[in-house]
Amino acid sequence: MKRLAIVVPCYNEEEMVAQAVAVLSALAARIVGDLRLAEEAVLVLVDDGSHDRTWAQIEAIAHANPMVRALKLSHNVGHQNALWAGLEWVAAREIDAAVSIDADLQDDTEAIVEMVHRANAGDDIVYGVRRERRTDTWFKRRTALAFYALMERLGGETVFNHADFRLMSRRAVVALVSHPERNLFLRGMVPRLGFASSRVLYDRRERLAGESKYPLGKMINFALEGITSFSVRPLRIITAVGLAFVLLSLLAIVYALSAYAAGQAMPGWTSMLISLWFIGGTVLTAIGIIGEYVGKIYTEVKRRPRYFVECEISE
Ligand code: UDP
Ligand code: MG
Repeated sequence: MKRLAIVVPCYNEEEMVAQAVAVLSALAARIVGDLRLAEEAVLVLVDDGSHDRTWAQIEAIAHANPMVRALKLSHNVGHQNALWAGLEWVAAREIDAAVSIDADLQDDTEAIVEMVHRANAGDDIVYGVRRERRTDTWFKRRTALAFYALMERLGGETVFNHADFRLMSRRAVVALVSHPERNLFLRGMVPRLGFASSRVLYDRRERLAGESKYPLGKMINFALEGITSFSVRPLRIITAVGLAFVLLSLLAIVYALSAYAAGQAMPGWTSMLISLWFIGGTVLTAIGIIGEYVGKIYTEVKRRPRYFVECEISE
């Protein structure tokens, strides 16, 4: 491999960015030097509109470290879009492979060595897969597992226990950034590229400093994004539930008519009330799910730019 890029999205990471660059550039230097797995390596830091001193730090680091390239996005566009910005940067340059990794160094940087080995052996995509989730809270672990299971059942292709820590060859990156969609869920998009892929197992650590930028609310949003971007099955489930209700109502009509004919029509408000609430709830949920997809179409047809670059540090 000639040139390797390590892409790191950073949002309010003033406590992490210097350490992350130190660890990653030492590793990159080893990959180029001792290990001779690549001829050259660059770190691409994407500042996702941070409100703290992240960019000031990046500027200082880039000044001192010739390996560092950086993009400053004009406002916060979220992890997926920030990573996309980094990958478009890669696609526009002569780079043979890109590794994406979070700035908090929760992912084992040593796994990158194995990823580059695999890339040199011909794999286009190498997924970093977490061996276990010991360092996550019980809640995050359960919800994440439930999400992967649900995604699988709904027909979305994802790699179990893989977040956005992966290596992609140049052609995989180019194929990825040719997607026009605005609702990004990279974990679902990358497996659909096809290309030869493999997995590298690693243990995930706790965040070294700073705090998670993915609180529960954002996690739920991200999960919904993933499901509705990759599966129309929820819409089918609605149709199925609707049909089941139509069948049930046929039975109810037969029952009601025969009761009427037998002169036993009682003013039963209990059953009325229950069915009213139940059907009302079902209908609202159904409309809500359809609304999710309509909302997606809305953001897609607007075709808004994914991000704006405010400044760039290159070469
Ligand atoms: N991040 C980003 N934009 C955001 C939120 C997060 O670029 O709006 C970056 C963040 O700096 C980190 C990575 O995305 O490098 C993953 O975020 P975090 O570690 O907070 O998520 P968690 O690991 O807790 O899911
Ligand atoms: Mg993290």
